[in-house]
Amino acid sequence: MVEKIEIMQQLYKRTDIIWQELCQIHPRLAEHKQPEILLNNRLYRTAGRAWQEDGIVELGTKFLLHSNKYRGIMLQVILPHELAHIADYMLWGESEKSCGHGKNWQMLMLQLGLEPDPYHTMDLKKC
Ligand SMILES: [Zn+2]
Repeated sequence: MVEKIEIMQQLYKRTDIIWQELCQIHPRLAEHKQPEILLNNRLYRTAGRAWQEDGIVELGTKFLLHSNKYRGIMLQVILPHELAHIADYMLWGESEKSCGHGKNWQMLMLQLGLEPDPYHTMDLKKC
């Protein structure tokens, strides 16, 4: 079993890398505070969510601890997905907020080399 602290370190490292990449492409982002990453023990159906106005990404602890495979998806897919939501809001504001996975969000995902797929639900059997 991987320690929670180790997972947090991996998350922070990955967040730094993704955010620096986004800041290089969109220098205006550097004027904002880098988003904060929080773990949430009570997220069961959603692997992650973004609080755009607060610049906070919440990730479900359960998904991170579930397995290596799930942790990989969290780091490689869910984390950038949520960070792109925050970057979207910082760069373009309210206009993109209502639809969430709009054109700008999709562009950010493509710039990160990722599929702009709005669906990222991971099925977790009760365990
Ligand atoms: Zn989303």
